[in-house]
Parts: sequence; C-alpha cells; structure tokens
Amino acid sequence: MKRLTPHHIHALHPYQSARRIGLTGRIYLNANESPWNNIVKYKHTDLNRYPEFQSSVLLKKYAQYSDTSINNILITRGADEGIELLVRAFCVPKSDKIMFFPPTYDMYAVIANMYNIKKKKIPILSSFQLDLINIKKYINDVKLIYICNPNNPTGNFFLKNDIISILTIIPLTTLLIIDEAYVDFSIENSFISKIHKYANLVILRTLSKAFGLSALRCGFVLSNPNIINILKKVSAPYPIATPISDLAVQSLKLENIKQVQENILQVALNKDFLVKKLQSFSCVDYVFPSKTNFILVRFFDSDVVFQYFLLHGIVVRDQSYKIGLNNCLRISIGTIKECQEVIQVLCMFEGKKL
Ligand SMILES: *Cc1c(COP(=O)(O)O)cnc(C)c1O
Repeated sequence: MKRLTPHHIHALHPYQSARRIGLTGRIYLNANESPWNNIVKYKHTDLNRYPEFQSSVLLKKYAQYSDTSINNILITRGADEGIELLVRAFCVPKSDKIMFFPPTYDMYAVIANMYNIKKKKIPILSSFQLDLINIKKYINDVKLIYICNPNNPTGNFFLKNDIISILTIIPLTTLLIIDEAYVDFSIENSFISKIHKYANLVILRTLSKAFGLSALRCGFVLSNPNIINILKKVSAPYPIATPISDLAVQSLKLENIKQVQENILQVALNKDFLVKKLQSFSCVDYVFPSKTNFILVRFFDSDVVFQYFLLHGIVVRDQSYKIGLNNCLRISIGTIKECQEVIQVLCMFEGKKL
C-alpha cells in the first residue's frame, strides 16, 4: 500500500469526527449538535431526474436568510465541503500555503494535508485573540487564511477590528475565509455585510449547528460572484441531492426559522445554567465564556473527569491534546435535562449533594 499511495496521503490522519471516534453513551454532548430535531419532512418527488446544479429555490431562501443575493452563494455538502473547495480551487500543491490560528477547527489542517498544501499556524494568544504581530509578519506568501469566528473549540469571537485590519492589509491575491459555523447563535456578529466591501472575503455557513440539521450535510459559501464562479468549476457535477435541497428549503421557511431562533434562546439559557453550576465545583479550574452552543471547560484533571462522564453515559469532547488547552474538555449545550445530568454526574464525582 505504501508504494501504491502518494506519500502525503499515506501520512494523512483523517479528521477525527465525533462519529469516527465512536464513543457511545446516553447523552451526546461531543459534536455541537442541536439537541432538538428540526421538524422538516421529506415529501417524495421525482428522483428519476438529476437535481439542478444549484437548487434555485434554496439559493433564494438562503439569500433571504443571509441578506445576500443568489449570485453570492454556493450550496455545499456542509461547510466542510466549502473548506475543501477553496483549497481545491485556489491552491497549487506543494507551493501554496494556508494560514490558520490554533487551537481551532481541525479540518483546515486535514484539508491542507490532503491536498499537499503548506500550513502556517499562528497560535492565538492566551487571551484567545489573534496574534496580529505574527500574523502580519508571516502573511506575505499566504494564499488562504481561515478564521473560525466564533472559534471552535474556544467559543469566543475575535475582535472585529483585528479581522478588519487583516482584511485591509492582505492583497487581492490572498483570500480571507471566515468560518461562521456558529454565527447563528450570535448573528449580529456576522461579517456577511462585508462581502460587498472586500472582494477577497469569503464566508462559510452551515445548517448543521443552530438549524439542527447535521445529518442533512448542507452548507453555504458566501462571497462575491467572481469567487463563487471559480468554486463552481471545481464542484462535483450534481453536489446536492434533491431530498437535501427540499429539506433545506423547508428549514428556511419563516415559521421554521422562528423555531430555530427560539431554540437559540433556549441554548443561551441552558448555557447560563450550566456555566453557573460548573463554577461551583472544585474539580473545575475555569469555564471560558462562550457565544456558541458549546463551552470549553478547564479542569484540574480532565482525563479523570472525561472518563467519569463516559462511565455515566455522557460523551463530551476531549480538547486537552490541543495547543494551549491542557486539561480542557468541550461540552455541547444540550436540553436543560441533559445539562442537569452533567451537573448530577459532577456532584457524584465530588461526593457532593445536589
Ligand atoms: C461543525 C463545523 C463545521 C462543519 O460543518 P458541516 O456543515 O457539518 O460540514 C465547519 N466549521 C466549524 C468550525 C465547525 O465546528
């Protein structure tokens, strides 16, 4: 196999998704999914015909939701496909370089490795903000910059002015990509209105998180039409299956969006509850503030707590191996009952009364 496979593929570690890690339990708080089902229903339509390359109805619906127009949008198989299409379209293997800011979403590194693209990692500061001095120092020969905003797994937004200052110094031959997978939880912080001002700004969105449709695999790239048209060149011939676009359209109907917005408010309430309770445990070192549907928690011994959660059927995400995140676990915000169970298990762990 080693002689059959290109070296960079042989050396590749695939993305360790929650599903691939394969831990089992009763309560899944490890993939930042919504705990509530989205009530879309598939109605059988003609499957004998190929789908449209891009569903015009879905384009229209997402343009309304995102306050853009249909020629600003490419529908993708999740935001993950957007991350990949950008590398495929704009990077030359072995010579081009992408920049990103760990600890962050692992897919930027995985895709760079898959396409044999160089990586420049500039770790974020201990304040979890961008290290502008080093970014500016190394930005010259970078093709794509991926900023996860709000950042996964730290849960914070980067300072708006820091992102703007990067946008103003990069040449038009560098693209700044803002991964807004979690922006629906704090939509006023989106950079979407800036795509008209900056020709090299690209935004990634998804229905997997706030919309509760992870299984659908539907995301969006938003940028100016020139960028979108290049991405269309490297897309699969029929990327989005008809049942997917039908369900996505339903999820973007007004009454459904209202339900999603109620769920977002509920997530915020459950998060407040969980954060306040967590701060009272002596095994908890620090709970990082979060604008998303997950929280990052630093324990004094995260391995022991992780295993104890698992033993009691609660699956969270270990982040302790990442730069700057010693002893940190990421916990997705579930229903209030699920949050209460997290607290109950920690009470048991510490031999405390509830
Ligand atoms: C979950 C996630 C994605 C992937 O979203 P899909 O639309 O499910 O592919 C992309 N970026 C970040 C930061 C994520 O957390």
